[in-house]
Amino acid sequence: MIHYALICSLEHEFDGWFSSSMAFEAQAARDLVECPVCGDINVRRALMAPCLPRKSNARDPAKAPQPDVPQPSAPPATLQQPSPGHTVAVAGDRLPAHVRVALQRLRAEVERHCDYVGDQFAEEARRIHHGESERRAIYGETTPDEAEELAADGIEVSSLPWVPHSDS
Ligand SMILES: [Zn+2]
Repeated sequence: MIHYALICSLEHEFDGWFSSSMAFEAQAARDLVECPVCGDINVRRALMAPCLPRKSNARDPAKAPQPDVPQPSAPPATLQQPSPGHTVAVAGDRLPAHVRVALQRLRAEVERHCDYVGDQFAEEARRIHHGESERRAIYGETTPDEAEELAADGIEVSSLPWVPHSDS
């Protein structure tokens, strides 16, 4: 069914339901569409205002059933691309195969060229930064807090999507 806002020559507005726009044209052409107020058959379609789906209204905090509590309007729900340096979560199971392979290759490169220092990562990164350890690339585990502290000290840290090896 298709809904039309209709208007007669005397500006009476009313609703009409038709199986299609062709059905409306056909019925109007045969004078079958008449104004329920005055019976005028000189009926045309009124201009339609854009209709928002109900769902978006329901999510609008201003229309939430809490009239006593003023609520700030929610930010638009658009997803933005993550900024460089931010940790991005990647769901491994759903990765397209070629992305997974690329990440596995990345992991292999890191393992080949960097020293694994385990959970001593933050400590070792600091030592290298201060010239107390051999200058080299390392990798290991660290907490987001530690990574933040390192970054604050000017020590460059990157989080990598660590996918399982292809044989695991
Ligand atoms: Zn009318």
